Amino acid sequence: MRIGIIGAGQLGQMLGFAANELGIECRFIDPSQDPPAAKCGKVIQSAFDDSVALIALADTCDVITYEFENVPVAVLHSIEGIAPVYPPADALRHSQDRLDEKRLFAALDIPLPNYYAIESRDDMDNAASSLGTPMIIKTRRFGYDGKGQFIIKKIANLDAAWEELGGQPLIAEQFVAFDYEVSCIGVRSISGEIAIYPLSRNVHVDGILRTSRSPVINSKLADKASEYVHQLLDHLNYVGVLALELFVTGDTLLANEFAPRVHNSGHWSIEGTETSQFENHIRAIAGLPLGSTASTGCAGMVNLIEQITGATRKLEVGQLHDYGKAPRPGRKLGHMTVVADTPEQRDALVDIINKSVIKAS
Ligand code: AMP
Repeated sequence: MRIGIIGAGQLGQMLGFAANELGIECRFIDPSQDPPAAKCGKVIQSAFDDSVALIALADTCDVITYEFENVPVAVLHSIEGIAPVYPPADALRHSQDRLDEKRLFAALDIPLPNYYAIESRDDMDNAASSLGTPMIIKTRRFGYDGKGQFIIKKIANLDAAWEELGGQPLIAEQFVAFDYEVSCIGVRSISGEIAIYPLSRNVHVDGILRTSRSPVINSKLADKASEYVHQLLDHLNYVGVLALELFVTGDTLLANEFAPRVHNSGHWSIEGTETSQFENHIRAIAGLPLGSTASTGCAGMVNLIEQITGATRKLEVGQLHDYGKAPRPGRKLGHMTVVADTPEQRDALVDIINKSVIKAS
């Protein structure tokens, strides 16, 4: 079997390693010269919307998947007659537009923050009256890692937000004073079998994920999140891995967004569960039975952003994953995962890694 993957970044690389372990070949499409996934399969160097290259990929693969969300939905539709495309294009369509995504959550009775669609400067005033301040303005499309967002702390900030983001479809969201953030990753097979990963608690700094820790010892929250992910997976007739990000306040969960792909907040699953999110995504789309998502211990993951310091490389507390990418401001270059017997031991190891990521000057 050969799987075609649109995108050859670190997610493609980790999918590729998992596929190769299962004896499955991968072929990628990516515009960059020597992307991370080149280590685990042939890369067709081409733009993601080059129909000739995509058709060549679909013609030579048994199934197609994608590792990032900005693939045009039309591109997936253009090849799904040649080879099956998983996750389904309809899931990607919902996740690409924050308004569609919120309407989907609401239709499935998944609780979410209050929101207001914005198309004009007047709508910004109406949103502020309806939601109050603080509120967050976000672009409806192409936002990631906190990009395309503006926090309105007071009404006087509305002009500045409109200046920066106006002229494109926007959405305003109630600012949630959450206790913490979690994500719930689920996987559904072609036959409809579902497996859910233990909940992960995530810390973002400047909109970028820094650390994930799992499991979260709160069965009420885990059960609710699992129920929401089940609803999404079944409703979308989904195949593959899906990640749902949520805000926690007390025992309440509010859905922020979902990603129709393997997710950074599940990287700990490589060492921290019996079957990683990458292996289970490959299993799902290849028509294989899903593997167990049970934890192997208390896992922690630290993203290595902008640089991987010598101090981090020398650590022997966990497993370093170096994506082999050139350093660039804000770029995720790798991550380190630890697995311990207790949450306290895990947190102590995460602290050691966190200290090592700061370069001595
Ligand atoms: P997003 O791109 O929507 O995932 O936002 C990136 C990060 O910004 C989230 O993980 C939160 O830390 C923060 N954030 C986004 N939306 C809200 C909100 N409505 N209230 C509070 N914080 C938010």
